[in-house]
Amino acid sequence: MRYWIETLGCPKNHVDSDKLAGLLETQGYDPASSPDDADLVVANTCAFIEAAREESIETVLDLADRKRRGARLVVTGCMAERYGDELAAALPEVDLVAGFGKSLTASSTRVELRARAASSFDLLNLPRPTSTTPWAYVKIAEGCDRRCGFCAIPTFRGDQRSRSTEEILSEARALVAGGVKELVLIAQDLASWGHDRRRAGRGEAVEVLDEGGTQPLIDLTRTLSTEVERVRLLYLYPSGLTTGLIDTILATGVPYFDLSLQHASKSLLRRMRRWGNAERFLERIDAIRESEPDATFRSSFILGYPGETEDDQHDLLEFIKAAQLDWAGFFTFSSEDGTYAQGLGDQVPHELALERMREVSELQDAITATKRDALVGTTQRILVDSSGVGRSVRECPEIDGVVMVDPSLSVGSTVQCRIVASHGTDLEGVTL
Ligand code: SF4
Repeated sequence: MRYWIETLGCPKNHVDSDKLAGLLETQGYDPASSPDDADLVVANTCAFIEAAREESIETVLDLADRKRRGARLVVTGCMAERYGDELAAALPEVDLVAGFGKSLTASSTRVELRARAASSFDLLNLPRPTSTTPWAYVKIAEGCDRRCGFCAIPTFRGDQRSRSTEEILSEARALVAGGVKELVLIAQDLASWGHDRRRAGRGEAVEVLDEGGTQPLIDLTRTLSTEVERVRLLYLYPSGLTTGLIDTILATGVPYFDLSLQHASKSLLRRMRRWGNAERFLERIDAIRESEPDATFRSSFILGYPGETEDDQHDLLEFIKAAQLDWAGFFTFSSEDGTYAQGLGDQVPHELALERMREVSELQDAITATKRDALVGTTQRILVDSSGVGRSVRECPEIDGVVMVDPSLSVGSTVQCRIVASHGTDLEGVTL
């Protein structure tokens, strides 16, 4: 019996798919080479925003067309969790729709994709197959205790549930033993990892994490960095960027800061129910650059949140100019069921949100291009991800640009390269 899993959405979903694959393989399934070659076809969907939902539906319909007669089509992931009943009713071509809390097992299927328990319905501690790349995501928590105005994730992923250090280390060690050189730690709110384990009550995030608040992540990062060549941390809520955590990240040798900022205007951030403002963000970025001038920064921003004004847009543009981030992603606001923002007045017309997004993206694209050009002539240590393609510590897998290298270099090797050219977001390196 063979399976095929089609994964949409963020890195966290990719980890879930890995875990589903691991589980299926322990049950005797082998990976199929394509959806039409599989006995079981799983669509692991994303429901983050409207566009992601549309893509998920299109993918499911495409898989329904491609799967061979008799093969079973199962839809899981965030969309199944949020809109399970509607999906099942609207998609008769699907054999089973199953959210995290439900068994993916129908009486008529032989597949056991059962989630472990209702209170820990994610797939965090399931085994996973050996990574096919020299890097791997490791999801260290599921859910989120924050309640950002635009975000529906807590409504269907629940409050934060952190994995134990032992579980994480055991998964990390297995990945490293299988050849992984870079571990990318992910969670909805990484800096708060471990808080739920220290707290009796749930559903209340600590607004500003103090030095003690980030100690669990500091300890974990330090331990992991002694066991693997690179440890990269994604999705840091900006108030979690304590001095201790900054120093720890710098000490790993991967001075990469993925800050979840979302905007720069203080009043708009409060409407988003988030911490911070441009001055505080810049203060932290400057402090990091003072310790490590080569530090790399990534962030993401939402345009068109309800109540956003021209002044807010001006603040964001000024911030982008001042911050000189290496990488940034921009998204237009999407009104999501069950969120605080859904009930807010002053909704921004979508066309205006798009226009603001274009304006800020254009500015950032020029900054990114200048930063990439400035690397020409430098020497970088490159991890070879696949034939002819590698990354320095400045590029996160799957999100940022890459460094093109000699295709004869073996995958998983690390080499010193001189950067000889830049092509948009990508660089070209020559082995030294
Ligand atoms: S920190 Fe905010 S945006 Fe991120 S998952 Fe939690 S609620 Fe959503």
